[in-house]
Amino acid sequence: MKIIVGVKRVVDSNVKVRVRADGTAVDISNVKMSMNPFDEIAVEEAVRLKEAGVATEIVAVSAGSGQSQETLRTALAIGADRAILIETDKELQPLAVAKLLKAVIDKEQPQLVILGKQAIDDDSNQTGQMLAALASWPQATFASKVGVAGNDVTVSREVDGGTETVMLQLPAVVTTDLRLNEPRYVTLPNIMKAKKKPLETIAADSLGVDISPRLKTLKVAEPPTRSAGEKVADAATLVQRLRDAKVI
Ligand code: AMP
Repeated sequence: MKIIVGVKRVVDSNVKVRVRADGTAVDISNVKMSMNPFDEIAVEEAVRLKEAGVATEIVAVSAGSGQSQETLRTALAIGADRAILIETDKELQPLAVAKLLKAVIDKEQPQLVILGKQAIDDDSNQTGQMLAALASWPQATFASKVGVAGNDVTVSREVDGGTETVMLQLPAVVTTDLRLNEPRYVTLPNIMKAKKKPLETIAADSLGVDISPRLKTLKVAEPPTRSAGEKVADAATLVQRLRDAKVI
């Protein structure tokens, strides 16, 4: 079984981002970039399926600028077999990414596509759903457990107040949630090995899909700053103050 995993290059989750002075976007100049954390979980899951003898090949795919090669090398170091960069310097919104991934799956014919549930930069949570719709494939989002048996994949999904277990027929799209697995550390020998693994670059324009943006960002703003706290003498005063403020 061939698995395609989508990996996006995003601002590292430990970076405290700032909004640009003109309020049009988050300032990403000179900040550390990494693989989207949910995509690390996606690659890890694919590698575990390969280690379990279920998958035979893992192809990591990233759409974006040439710098996304770094992200793909990380996926190769975790254990993907080869990588494809769909290269473009244009802004990519989730529908555009879904269309580009659809063009790649038409060519690669995988049985399973694993994406993250959301990219931590745009927080869209749309690409997997859109890809499944474009491909007319079943989808299971927010996966916390994945099991493949024959032509079926059984997925436990994180839903409000518990989990839902669904069974899909392959080919299918699965998106990962936090509890699915804990990604392994990338070791130096594997980083070295990853340098020799194949990484193909395809120009996004050559795939014949319309990737023009459909959404326009009107404004980006920092969350309001919290007002300072206040110390009270004892618990009784605290309760009284909360009552006065009609909080309890
Ligand atoms: P989003 O819908 O933007 O929140 O992204 C959901 C998931 O789609 C991510 O976790 C990735 O697995 C995948 N994805 C989004 N953008 C890209 C991209 N530029 N290249 C590869 N995969 C992507």
